[in-house]
Amino acid sequence: MKAARLHGPRDIRVEEVEHPAAPGTGDILLRVKAVGICGSDLHMYLDGRIGDTEFLSPMVIGHEFMGEVVEVGEGSLDGNGQPLQVGQRVAVDPNTPCLHCEMCEKGHPNLCPNHTFYGGYPTDGALQECMIVHARNCFPIPDSISDGAGTLLETLGVSIHAVDLGKLRVANSVAVIGCGPVGLLILELAKLAGAAPLYAFDKLSWRVEKARELGAEAWNVDEVDPLAVLNKATNGRGADVVFEAAWADESVQMAADMTRVGGRMVLVGIPGDDRLVMQHSTARRKGLSIMLSRRMKHTYPRAIQLATSVLNLDSLISHHVPLTDTVAAFEMNTRYDDGICKIIVDL
Ligand SMILES: [Zn+2]
Ligand SMILES: [Zn+2]
Repeated sequence: MKAARLHGPRDIRVEEVEHPAAPGTGDILLRVKAVGICGSDLHMYLDGRIGDTEFLSPMVIGHEFMGEVVEVGEGSLDGNGQPLQVGQRVAVDPNTPCLHCEMCEKGHPNLCPNHTFYGGYPTDGALQECMIVHARNCFPIPDSISDGAGTLLETLGVSIHAVDLGKLRVANSVAVIGCGPVGLLILELAKLAGAAPLYAFDKLSWRVEKARELGAEAWNVDEVDPLAVLNKATNGRGADVVFEAAWADESVQMAADMTRVGGRMVLVGIPGDDRLVMQHSTARRKGLSIMLSRRMKHTYPRAIQLATSVLNLDSLISHHVPLTDTVAAFEMNTRYDDGICKIIVDL
């Protein structure tokens, strides 16, 4: 069978790999159907590392995925505690916490120091035709959720967790910096949570347009002074809650500048150089609460609920490509060609 493996910076090869053996206890064999390309995959592709995690040997990447259950190991209960059936379509939460440590016991599986992560070194990810996954990570999805939308449940889960950390209240003003899939979903969730008004910023004109379609006042940061327009819109007060969902570069300082005195900022983006740069006095004098978002908790059930009712995840998908075009897809995504939002690799 085929898999797209990352060998080093800018070196993905679609190659033949061995088909997995039968699933063991608590595991299933999944035929992968769709994989979304994420900003963190782009970091790995460009730099051969993410944060301080480096790649020491080739591996299959891809952590936003769904597929069909092909074979069920003994005692295979899904994320809702129900037995999985052959033929079921499932979305997979890529994070596998240990369930025994202090953080897991306290309800923070996203902070488990003993976790593994599909698509995070050294655990192979989903850009392959078949793979063994833990049944517990699987959440069955209805036919009304498309394959592509099924992969976006991960992105939505991350966004739900970020909004949870924002502790939004009705009529809080919200600014979102970075209108990629996560930023746009944060906007939609903030709106659902009763936040208003909504402000959004991005560098790409079509993303600014998408944010406007969602009801935000949105600006291109290359065309305006972002802080000046935000101050004008809020009479100099700043936004109650600011979400940074870009590459966590100068956008972190921008987020701090935009947050009101005593407000809260949530950092979701990941910086390329593994450094967080912010003027200390800005945050200190305002007494800001700063949250760094780490993956998600048990958010798939909520994500599925939203995707079957009020959210249209398909609208975030800009491109579909086959596995054989994975390299071209990553290149296209790093160039941010016209109209890029979410690229889905279909298997
Ligand atoms: Zn992701
Ligand atoms: Zn744990």
